[in-house]
Amino acid sequence: MKTIEAVKCENCGKLHEVSSEDFISIHGNVCIGMNGGIIGHNFDKEGRVNRISVYCINNCLKIMLEKFTTYTKR
Ligand SMILES: [Zn+2]
Repeated sequence: MKTIEAVKCENCGKLHEVSSEDFISIHGNVCIGMNGGIIGHNFDKEGRVNRISVYCINNCLKIMLEKFTTYTKR
């Protein structure tokens, strides 16, 4: 049996083959200014250091666009 390494989208749970380019990996956080975390994280659900977050490309762009839009309305 062949084993395929996969990563899981933080938003929808879809699995992506690690060697593919159909997902976005964020190392740490994307922030507005020096604060204001938009997407990504430094810790997993158990509080362990895990600086990589994975998203489907469409999910990532949608989340970022929605959050950036709320900042531009201020
Ligand atoms: Zn997704």
